[in-house]
Amino acid sequence: MWVVVVAAGSGRRFGSPKHFALLGDRAMAQWAVDAARQAADGVVLVLPAPDPLDVADRRGAIENVDVMVTGGATRAASVRAGLAVVPDTAEVIVVHDGARPLASPALFGAVVDAVTAGADAAVPGLAVVDTLKRVVGDEVTATVERDGMVAVQTPQAFRADVLRRAHASLSEATDDAGLVELLGATVRVVPGEPRNIKVTTLADLELARALAES
Ligand code: C5P
Repeated sequence: MWVVVVAAGSGRRFGSPKHFALLGDRAMAQWAVDAARQAADGVVLVLPAPDPLDVADRRGAIENVDVMVTGGATRAASVRAGLAVVPDTAEVIVVHDGARPLASPALFGAVVDAVTAGADAAVPGLAVVDTLKRVVGDEVTATVERDGMVAVQTPQAFRADVLRRAHASLSEATDDAGLVELLGATVRVVPGEPRNIKVTTLADLELARALAES
């Protein structure tokens, strides 16, 4: 099993390359890599292009990575850059957002186990507790039935051939499961983790710091 950690977003909403921001004593990307590492044969880290002004070489400071590659303009393009260096011998590939530093090693195990047990793909999902509404601009147009809805996280595990086929179409989606669903593949949901938040803003980083300490 190989893991591709995508951390090549621009950090536009964060204000700087967020994956190098410190959470405790480690960069966020390092947390994601360390959790991914535990049961993996290899870890690929996808990062933004090196910054010639980054004299501290924060890319070079990330440890325990087998291959580092530069990402693309979209998340899907960054995943494809990572997939290109995963050995053909890998039967299961996990994709994880570097912006989710608090996913546990057990969560990686759970999605991988679901694929090993026969699913094409497995994703962590949390029940939606808020009421969901469809809006156009600032006007509510409908209330969406909440039953049967889950909020989906990463890590997401895939049979390698299914994930490679999904990405061969060069389609875009906000997650990889969305692409394999288009192929008619079976995607299972395993229980997600409430503390596995996605760090998008500085406020999210503060929350992640509090969660990491608790
Ligand atoms: O933008 P979004 O919040 O969906 O990003 C999710 C993950 O995808 C983040 O870890 C981000 O760094 C990564 N990403 C990437 N390459 C991009 C855009 C996003 O690796 N071009």
